[in-house]
Amino acid sequence: MPQINRVLVTGGAGFLGSHLCERLVDQGHDVVCVDNFFTSQKTNVAHLLGRPNFDLIRHDITQPLVLEVDQIFNLACPAAPGHYQYNPIKTLKTSVMGAINTLGLAKRCRAKILQASTSEVYGDPEVHPQPESYRGAVNPIGPRACYDEGKRAAETLFVDYYRVHKLNVRIVRIFNTYGPSMHPYDGRVVSNFIRQAIRGEDITVFGDGSQTRSFCYRDDLIEGMLRMMNGSDDFIGPVNLGNPDEFTIVELAKLVIELTGSKSKIIHKDLPVDDPTRRRPDITLAKTKLGWQPQTRLREGLEKTIAWFRTIRWEEFRAPTPNY
Ligand code: NAD
Ligand code: UDP
Repeated sequence: MPQINRVLVTGGAGFLGSHLCERLVDQGHDVVCVDNFFTSQKTNVAHLLGRPNFDLIRHDITQPLVLEVDQIFNLACPAAPGHYQYNPIKTLKTSVMGAINTLGLAKRCRAKILQASTSEVYGDPEVHPQPESYRGAVNPIGPRACYDEGKRAAETLFVDYYRVHKLNVRIVRIFNTYGPSMHPYDGRVVSNFIRQAIRGEDITVFGDGSQTRSFCYRDDLIEGMLRMMNGSDDFIGPVNLGNPDEFTIVELAKLVIELTGSKSKIIHKDLPVDDPTRRRPDITLAKTKLGWQPQTRLREGLEKTIAWFRTIRWEEFRAPTPNY
């Protein structure tokens, strides 16, 4: 019988958090989901509300929180560029003060704590693919800095709590992840293209579309995150979690058009400032240390995601920012 833990998931109502809560509740853990619903809504976890081992707390993690738990997954932070640039100062506070508050909670409870970091710590990388040892090329005063530098500072805090307080920490660096229950108006490339294709609207490729990303399916990502939390205490990371299959944005647009059978046309819009030119994870460390690698190819993951987008009631999703 595996050990039952009391687990806190901050940002637990979000895209990744809600799926993580689902996995943990199904495994029998006592799960507390904390969220301020800035980029999500209660409907993402509504199906868990009747379960006796699931609690939902509306709370902002820039404020301290008193709970007794064994494990903490710290996911609270807007992740889509339009969302995190909407209120950049709040984004930075969420990463930094959220890390301080959750680390403080972990220290008091002696809980194990995992930070959801990001490939954005590499900025617009000069090294390709990106290994964890690469220190990155982040513009500290650009429009993405509130997110990138906040996540970098959070990593610093996690490692310092490990060094100073011997806290049991973990850091995962997540690369672009997609799947069912993404916010359909988050402005990210996968949700934008699917929404546009289904509605027969123009597909908006920013720049010439030669920039690349490597897309990981949600379920693969959450599996990696769970393995990291439950892996050896000797390995705190950071570890890259992502799918190493790399695509240009134009390739993605064409694939979405094909899979949706859409008549949408590709149009080009201005490339956002500091948009990374290419991104692909080196996942050697995750393979070696966690025995993890993604199982879902982009075509298969997109088919599942498109099927989910076809079922949603659009009016149930509030667009949190005007930038979609
Ligand atoms: P998301 O926006 O769907 O989820 C984030 C959740 O955090 C939302 O439910 C939001 O309401 C909540 N939140 C935001 N600020 C908060 C605050 N101050 N207090 C409490 N809750 C707050 O994004 P996601 O894609 O599920 O990302 C989850 C985590 O993974 C984030 O930390 C993100 O930086 C990281 N990540 C995600 C990706 C990806 O491609 N999805 C890539 C890299 C890193
Ligand atoms: N992008 C695009 N059209 C869109 C949305 C995004 O061409 O409608 C591009 C964006 O410029 C970037 C890539 O797709 O090069 C991924 O963008 P996203 O916002 O999903 O995430 P990022 O990896 O940039 O954080």
